[in-house]
Amino acid sequence: MPFVASGDPGSLSAAAATAFRSAYGADPAVVGRAPGRVNLIGEHTDYNGGLVLPVALPHATYAAMSPRNDDVVRIASVEESTPWEGTLASLSSASGWAAYAAGVLWALRSAGVPVPGVDVLVHGTVPLGAGLSSSAALECAVAVAACAVAGVSLDRALVVDACIRAETEVAGAPTGGMDQTVAMLASPGAALLIDFTSGASSDVPLPLADVALLVTDTRVTHALNDGGYAARRADCEQAAAELGVPTLRSASLSVLASITDERVRRRARHVVTEIARVSDVVAALATGSWSAVGALFAASHASMRDDFEISCPELDLAVSTAVAAGAIGARMTGGGFGGSSIAVVPSADVDDVADAIDAAFAAAGFRAPQHLVAEPSGAAGVVP
Ligand code: ADP
Ligand code: MG
Repeated sequence: MPFVASGDPGSLSAAAATAFRSAYGADPAVVGRAPGRVNLIGEHTDYNGGLVLPVALPHATYAAMSPRNDDVVRIASVEESTPWEGTLASLSSASGWAAYAAGVLWALRSAGVPVPGVDVLVHGTVPLGAGLSSSAALECAVAVAACAVAGVSLDRALVVDACIRAETEVAGAPTGGMDQTVAMLASPGAALLIDFTSGASSDVPLPLADVALLVTDTRVTHALNDGGYAARRADCEQAAAELGVPTLRSASLSVLASITDERVRRRARHVVTEIARVSDVVAALATGSWSAVGALFAASHASMRDDFEISCPELDLAVSTAVAAGAIGARMTGGGFGGSSIAVVPSADVDDVADAIDAAFAAAGFRAPQHLVAEPSGAAGVVP
């Protein structure tokens, strides 16, 4: 039953500072911290102008940083072996993992933040490529550190936009913006309801006295840039165009029958019903009804499996096993094609449910999964 520990900010920022010293021979000037996230519900709704309800994880990425007095930029990570070195002029041509960090420095400079040449050392506990948004955690940790080094006050909306630009334009990975928004705006103890039509977001307190959010990383690496994401997005755009609406947010279930292609119709049905489920989960949470949330999780998972076709055998097994072992509800979470599941579990049963998933994976011949408990945490910032 391996659980991924979140680690505490004090010791992790100290570990990042130690790694910074051994890479660059001096103490960092600042350490930025940003959380990973797990989405409670609302999948593939962000780019359709819809609603999402992510939670910031206690697991976070730390970026230790110091200014230099030239235009050189050096970026290294405890989690990745190949460091990157370039200049302020070459930031946007960085590739590989360092593109996420260099891209943020480039986007901040493009937005007018006077980031100088810097040394950067990254270290964190967000599992990489598990659908828990280690990419946005990396971007936002680098961004808050860079704003501090540049001597500007932290403009969270500007950072969100810069991190989205870094991921799409420099790292070349499509993103709808949910991950960067929750990393910059989340509050402890709450999920963040984000409306991608109005741009508004608000805290949704989570009544977690007797239940826990168990996240299971299937260790099936999702690859958002392998075409599946782009194909789903294209189907959604086609559906909206056929319906004559700006986004599927404006479509209702009753009008979908007019969509000619059966697959496109199912894709749209997932989006329209999923947006409604986000509102329904928010309403259920307001009355403390986790059983209602559990039923909505089940409907969400079925919709992603059957209508949107983004699940996989490992995710289906994690979800069905969690429910059979006592979870109140479970669903796959994140972009799909691998990644993680999330289950609402009575607190006393978390270990049993995790054990049951491990046993089911072993019996099926799947790679051993790893688990974590998502205690809703706060947004990115400089570590004091
Ligand atoms: P997710 O965001 O779900 O974890 P992505 O594919 O969007 O998955 O982003 C994962 C990538 O982000 C990694 O493959 C790596 O390139 C980069 N990354 C994230 N965290 C770190 C880190 N601590 N050190 C180096 N690279 C990282
Ligand atoms: Mg990501």
